[in-house]
Amino acid sequence: MKAALLRASAKMLSIEDVPPPALTPGHVLLRILACGVCRTDLHIFERDLPTLRSPLILGHQIVGEVIEGATPELPQGTRVGVSWVGGTDGTCPFCKRTEENLCDNIVFTGYSIDGGYAEYTTARADFVHPLPSTLSDADIAPLLCAGMIGFRSVRVAGTQPGERVGLFGFGASASLVIAVLRHWNCEVYVSTRGEQHRVQAEALGAKWVGDEHAKPPVQLDRAVTFAPSGAVVVSALSSLRKGGIVAVNAIHLDQMPAFDYDKLLWGERQIRSVANMTRQDARDFLSVAAEIGIHPRVRTFPLDHANDALQAVKHETAEGPVVILP
Ligand SMILES: [Zn+2]
Ligand SMILES: [Zn+2]
Repeated sequence: MKAALLRASAKMLSIEDVPPPALTPGHVLLRILACGVCRTDLHIFERDLPTLRSPLILGHQIVGEVIEGATPELPQGTRVGVSWVGGTDGTCPFCKRTEENLCDNIVFTGYSIDGGYAEYTTARADFVHPLPSTLSDADIAPLLCAGMIGFRSVRVAGTQPGERVGLFGFGASASLVIAVLRHWNCEVYVSTRGEQHRVQAEALGAKWVGDEHAKPPVQLDRAVTFAPSGAVVVSALSSLRKGGIVAVNAIHLDQMPAFDYDKLLWGERQIRSVANMTRQDARDFLSVAAEIGIHPRVRTFPLDHANDALQAVKHETAEGPVVILP
């Protein structure tokens, strides 16, 4: 099969012919139909995150079709999604507390195991998500991490219907989750750099938009930060009402600047990080996405141009999420 390989210390992905993955018990073999490109792929590619294996096939927003290893629940030809969490042990204290996103032995698709910048992949049968038929392969791919983790972020922030929610940064994740927030009748306030992102946020129903340093004109109940910047987290914190929560949706963050406890955190304000997602988050988000019909404006690249796809995410040259088609 054709695959884009990331080799240790290489500066580019190399497009190569490699043997397709072997099917092992408890897994399904998938023919890949689409794979979204996530900012985390870029952090792995640029070694902001430690290298776990080499060569590695990136990609953890995989839409695929079951072609081997079918089960009664997953018949041959079922279209399924594979996301960042590729498996957990099911036995550690976190798994037992229904916090499988924090599992001590969690497996990451496209990081600790091979992912979806390829023509085929295998995945644990109990970690694939059957997909609603109303959304196309390319449209659904970015929902599988950007959408799901955005959804988990607003949950971690404790968002209730009708509340005032701030989104700090407006990339793929924010552009998908704003549809859910509007569906919940929340007022959405967006601070982001880039005129294009501000125009997009307004078009998608934000009540207010401002540049990355602008402070929303009201006190927020909840905030989610998407930029890999500690300064943005402090800025979000300074916009919260008492008892408000800021959820940090970033796997990698630069230094948090010092801030004034008495003014910013006192009053039971909270900062919470968002780590991975549970299968329940995935199911809940896919069902709400199908209900409201989220159709992201994706930009697609062929697998041969996987390097260009990564650069489009890095330089934010695409208007919406980036997706690779094999
Ligand atoms: Zn576990
Ligand atoms: Zn991701």
